[in-house]
Amino acid sequence: ERLVSGGAEDVERAAEAALRPKRLDEFVGQRVVREQLGLVLEAALARGRAPDHVLLSGPPGLGKTTLAMIIAAELGTSVRVTSGPAIQHAGDLAAVLSSLEENEVLFLDEIHRIARPAEELLYVAMEDFRVDVVVGKGAGANAIGLALPPFTVVGATTRAGLLPAPLRDRFGFTGHLEFYEDEELVRVLERSAGLLGVDLHRAAANEIARRSRGTPRIANRLLRRVRDWAQVRGDGTLDRAAARSALEVYEVDEIGLDRLDRAVLHALCVRFGGGPVGLTTLAVAVGEEPETVETVAEPFLVREGLMGRTPRGRVATTRTWQHLHLRPPPSAPT
Ligand code: ADP
Repeated sequence: ERLVSGGAEDVERAAEAALRPKRLDEFVGQRVVREQLGLVLEAALARGRAPDHVLLSGPPGLGKTTLAMIIAAELGTSVRVTSGPAIQHAGDLAAVLSSLEENEVLFLDEIHRIARPAEELLYVAMEDFRVDVVVGKGAGANAIGLALPPFTVVGATTRAGLLPAPLRDRFGFTGHLEFYEDEELVRVLERSAGLLGVDLHRAAANEIARRSRGTPRIANRLLRRVRDWAQVRGDGTLDRAAARSALEVYEVDEIGLDRLDRAVLHALCVRFGGGPVGLTTLAVAVGEEPETVETVAEPFLVREGLMGRTPRGRVATTRTWQHLHLRPPPSAPT
């Protein structure tokens, strides 16, 4: 039996939840999405009706779950949370849908991973606010149409392109979340430091922001690790030296690449001579799922010019070789 209720992952998740902004005006950055979403919500409130369904897309850790919670808070309603992988049968979804209350928000994380039969049910529910429940078995089975109260689906996906078109079309508004600028991450960090009650020096905030891959979740996580370091090995001060030492311990490099990023780049250069190499082959070489490499590592590497995408596969760039301190072979496609 476990002595404590949660594993390390639960602890991280709880720490993360504690730092979530609650209202739209506390949400840092993403100016475009914030303005667009603000209008959708304000109009819905003025009409006294549930807003259109909202789809949020972007790499992990950029604030999709946070925005779903904020949408519910701004609408003064509650939120029900589930995810694509949790819905393997149409019945799972039917159960959730039929228990929704009027104007509630249904947050569907990783919506692109929802099982096919459930997808059909979702189309109908989103469009007609109706769910067909099958009662009985075999020849005597009957489909009973159940009317649902109005509600709003907030779907989150790492890439909108992963969704089948009919599902994508049922969202009245799609917000694309972008990686954050360093100054925005500094604001996220300063807000978090305030909530954690720690004195974060500006130089330390800059250092952490610069190495957070444009991602608030990573910034907050690194902040907690720097706090640990300062408490155990330092004198409790969160200054630049503490930040640098802590980040070294956790193997976050100068530009924020972590183990997976470096493994991908290393395989790309050393095993595949700089590519081009297919995504799946590359993923197998680093022992990861292709989806993880594609959605977690790749978007940032491409943005930083550390990896190129060509029709024939992924390629190293001049910057990749430089970053790894390797000399490209004469044949490398840089
Ligand atoms: P996602 O659902 O996109 O994976 P989350 O919404 O769970 O990301 O965000 C991860 C963490 O980052 C949360 O703890 C949240 O507090 C923080 N965060 C994300 N976006 C912002 C933001 N714009 N402002 C402040 N904190 C943010």
